[in-house]
Parts: sequence; C-alpha cells; structure tokens
Amino acid sequence: MIMNPCHTKKIVENIYSIKTSIVNMYLYQYADKYIAIDCGSNLEKVKENLLLLNINASDVTHIFLTHSDYDHVAGLPLFTNARVYLGHEELQMIDKTTPRFSAFKFNKPLGCSEFELLLDQQEIEIENVNIRCFATPGHTPGSMSYLFDQKYFFVGDAVSIKNGEIKPFFKFFVMDMKTHLKSITKIENVRKAQIVFSGHHGYKIK
Ligand SMILES: [Zn+2]
Repeated sequence: MIMNPCHTKKIVENIYSIKTSIVNMYLYQYADKYIAIDCGSNLEKVKENLLLLNINASDVTHIFLTHSDYDHVAGLPLFTNARVYLGHEELQMIDKTTPRFSAFKFNKPLGCSEFELLLDQQEIEIENVNIRCFATPGHTPGSMSYLFDQKYFFVGDAVSIKNGEIKPFFKFFVMDMKTHLKSITKIENVRKAQIVFSGHHGYKIK
C-alpha cells in the first residue's frame, strides 16, 4: 500500500499543506485567518508544522472534517478557537452506532465538544470564502468533500491519486465500495474544480 502525501508547504497563494506521517491536512487562508480541512494524525506534529509555516493555531477559525478517522482529526484539540464541521452521516461513526472495520472496532469520539453537521450541497460563507459541501460517502458513510471558492476541491479519502489520475482508495479502508465508486464519479463531474486535494496522495492540478 503506497501513501504519498505532499510535504508541508505553501501550495498556491492562500493554501498550505501540512504533512503528519502519511496524511495531509490543509489550511485555506482568508485575510489573516485560516480555515483548516482536516487536522492531521498527530497533535504534536501538527504543532511543529504550524511553527514551520509561521501560522498560529489560534488563527484557525473553522475546521471542515472530510471524515472522522483518527488520522484526520488528531490535531483537533489544538484549535480551540475553531468551529468544527463534518458530514451529517458521519455522526454514526463517532457515537459508536456504526463500527469502523469490524464489529469490535469503533472510531473515537471527536476531540472537541461541539460540532456542526453538514448536508450535501449545503453552502457556507465565511467572510468572502464560499464553501460548497458534496456528500461523497463510501470510505465512511459521512465522508464529505468541500469545494472552496468554486475551484479548490478538498476530498479527503474519497479518492487516491496515482500518476496524476483519480483512483479509488485502498479497498481495505473503504466501508462501501459501490458507494465509494459513485462518489468518485460525483467528484469527477465537478468540472470547475481546478485542484483536487486528497488526504493521502497530495493534490492533482487539472
Ligand atoms: Zn485517511
């Protein structure tokens, strides 16, 4: 199994990647604040990387989680000023209604006390940033992708990227492959997306 996240860096003018072990989280800058997409796999590593980028955790005002697997949420307690959002159908993964891999293993509760649940096609405006939600279930039931400002598409583990091509994620981690494949088609049909940002395979520029 090959995972190849990108390094911690500025990707375009207002988008940064942070790498912790085998996963990326992203920061989307607006004015002098930031919106995070996911939160990394290790709180201390997220802290170190924020320092490298000269970004204060307290300037992160919102967090959009693509799903609730531990490698995407571990840094949550760092961001005490942020409002947290995730897909409505992901609730079953954090309240122990639905097991993750098999009947004996559940995702942990989120490392924050409050969060807001999002629906497919919901739109959020944060100052002058427009975020459109796309339900992209399959990897987990509540996996959500986020289109920022009509062009930057953060899709988490709804895809992998291999040789510049969008591919399905590793079968072992996909809870419902049929639904996952439908979600990939849905992502590919968002043609205005100029860059697709993944959880474990960096990003793909159209
Ligand atoms: Zn992941």
